[in-house]
Amino acid sequence: MPEFGRQGTYDVVAIGSGFGTLFFVEGLLRKRPRVRVLILERGRANSHAWQLMHDKNSDIDPESTYRRDPAHKRWNFTIGLGGGTNCWFGHTPRFHPNDFRLRSIYGVLQDWPVDYVSLEPYYLAAERHMSISGSEEMGAILPRSGLFPLPPHVTTSIDRIMRAAQPQFHFPIATARASKANGERGRCCSSARCSRCRISCIGPGRFPLIGPTLDGLPAEPLARTFTRPFCAKQVSWL
Ligand SMILES: Cc1cc2nc3c(=O)[nH]c(=O)nc-3n(C[C@H](O)[C@H](O)[C@H](O)COP(=O)(O)OP(=O)(O)OC[C@H]3O[C@@H](n4cnc5c(N)ncnc54)[C@H](O)[C@@H]3O)c2cc1C
Repeated sequence: MPEFGRQGTYDVVAIGSGFGTLFFVEGLLRKRPRVRVLILERGRANSHAWQLMHDKNSDIDPESTYRRDPAHKRWNFTIGLGGGTNCWFGHTPRFHPNDFRLRSIYGVLQDWPVDYVSLEPYYLAAERHMSISGSEEMGAILPRSGLFPLPPHVTTSIDRIMRAAQPQFHFPIATARASKANGERGRCCSSARCSRCRISCIGPGRFPLIGPTLDGLPAEPLARTFTRPFCAKQVSWL
């Protein structure tokens, strides 16, 4: 491991570099720009070109990472820099307000300790961060305090038939697939192969979030937040 990783001291160590880490680090750096963050990633940084050539997102088979039992569900995820940002389809639905109150409304399971209203600003921030395409009409079902960054996708003929039958329920779905060219992102080509699409409209190159998220970090240290084991000498909790 490079000296940077061996001897550095960090305020925060994040394990893995998927969505969870990226949104967390992005928010942390916005609030505390000088904080030193180390991201430890098990997988390699397989380039978008590598993924297209090998027709897979990672050189590590996810099934090799957990105990396999035919009676149980198989899991699919990406071990590699960016984690699930490599393989996701770009669907970005919000939970419905009622989803947070299942016990109160439907008498099943439990209510959440948070509600839709308190999460709404975070939904909006995430949608802005990911340049989500969506229809403002969606606000009739999922109330919104701001606009979608990109306009909705053009509906298909099947969408239009469904909408004619139930106009109050059918809207173009919110998605990270870009409805129009946007910065480094091209427009969605509707290949239905989002995880290994050549256009890669859900983000710049392979990592939709890593670029904007890690603007606050020098690129070089990011490249060194790597995979070999090393011992933390001291851990501080925030
Ligand atoms: C094919 C597919 C399509 C999907 N499409 C969508 C979608 O359209 N919309 C949606 O909302 N969600 C989608 N998901 C789900 C979404 O990808 C996950 O919910 C999300 O990635 C979870 O984020 P995470 O940060 O918790 O984990 P991950 O993104 O899985 O990140 C985990 C990170 O930890 C690393 N790691 C693992 N073990 C170690 C270790 N021992 N040491 C260090 N690092 C380690 C991994 O390499 C990875 O970088 C999809 C998932 C798959 C598999």
